Amino acid sequence: MFDALRSADPDIAALIESESRRQVRTLRLIASENYASAAVQEAVGSALANKYSEGYGGRRYYQGQQYIDQVEALAIDRIKAVFGAEHVNVQPYSGSPANLAVYFAFASPGDPVMGLGLPHGGHLTHGWNVNVSGKWFDAHQYPVERDSELLDMAAMRRIAREVRPKILFAGITAYPRVVDWDAFREVADEVGAILVADIAHISGLVAAGLHPSPVPVADVVTSTTHKTFRGPRGGMILCREEHARAIDRAIFPGLQGGPHNNTTAGIAVAAREAAQPSFREYAQRVVDSARALGEALVERGFRLVTGGTDNHMLIVDTMHRGVPGKPVAQALERAGMVCNYNSIPFDPRKPFDPSGIRIGTAAMASRGIGAEHMTRLADWVDQVVAASDDTSVEERVRGEVEEFLIDFPAPGLEGVTP
Ligand SMILES: *Cc1c(COP(=O)(O)O)cnc(C)c1O
Repeated sequence: MFDALRSADPDIAALIESESRRQVRTLRLIASENYASAAVQEAVGSALANKYSEGYGGRRYYQGQQYIDQVEALAIDRIKAVFGAEHVNVQPYSGSPANLAVYFAFASPGDPVMGLGLPHGGHLTHGWNVNVSGKWFDAHQYPVERDSELLDMAAMRRIAREVRPKILFAGITAYPRVVDWDAFREVADEVGAILVADIAHISGLVAAGLHPSPVPVADVVTSTTHKTFRGPRGGMILCREEHARAIDRAIFPGLQGGPHNNTTAGIAVAAREAAQPSFREYAQRVVDSARALGEALVERGFRLVTGGTDNHMLIVDTMHRGVPGKPVAQALERAGMVCNYNSIPFDPRKPFDPSGIRIGTAAMASRGIGAEHMTRLADWVDQVVAASDDTSVEERVRGEVEEFLIDFPAPGLEGVTP
């Protein structure tokens, strides 16, 4: 691999090889990460990146689009088919620019907007105060319920009636349960808001039919393409035909210049993969293993936010075992398991040193690791937490993890020797 790169730039080549090996040798438990296939990576690494294509198919601002137009049309048609969408834009550079384009399409600075608060599982771009969405708009945040830790739909409705948001964001970054799109639709209709469903995390599950689809319900659906959907790093916007022009104009010329055509090709490849039966099996493995891991962790004395999971992620309250999330995440990394520390709802601790960790099963499932392996994983987590920084335990577990992973080749990294 990387013959040209190794001779032209040995420093970068060595770092890429090290990172690839790290991805092969560790259990990757970060809920937003995955393994894109070799086919997706080849498309992304292709000469399509050399081409400028500002505009949309058939109406570009540069000549030489005979192949690019076909690539983008394929990506759009396949995403439409996978999600049953009326209109699709595959040009957003990533999830955050997709959301910014939605604000630009439907609101003006100072307008009221609403989203789930970041500390309760929402995304930065849903109106959090340090983000442009919180700084340039009159952003209001709804919470989860204190007891159940489920989305507080009553509070959401009350706040929406009060502030009458132009845009109502429904969607999650750190929340393990199904989102009831219909309930959001009712409130959006009542207050005259544009309903945006952000499925960045769960789009792979939606594509496989394992989470209810917001596509028939929401005005606009935004997503990344690299999380559970397992495509290239990118974004997309799906919407009703009536909003097509507003969305397309918000992306270009409103927010972006030339689309990343190599990424567009990668999205087309990923959409083709998502239409295969094997993708549905992968997605089933994602949710089955998340549920199994949750049960196994509860048996070992951990507490799960909301008590369990319906999707690919678990928010684990590690303080229930007497240790904050950050040292747990650090110890797990030393033992070959890479996750992130995460706030829990109403966390008494600071965001940089919170009470929990977030675990996702998508990357593992892409390697074929499933529910039947989750007691093993829970035992490793349990042993590392119980050993509290005993490096001999961490080293032993790391060895066991590496040996275990040999049987599960990582998509896109088949040529990498661990
Ligand atoms: C990850 C995520 C995004 C942002 O995606 P980036 O590609 O990181 O910009 C937006 N919304 C939600 C809900 C996300 O989870």
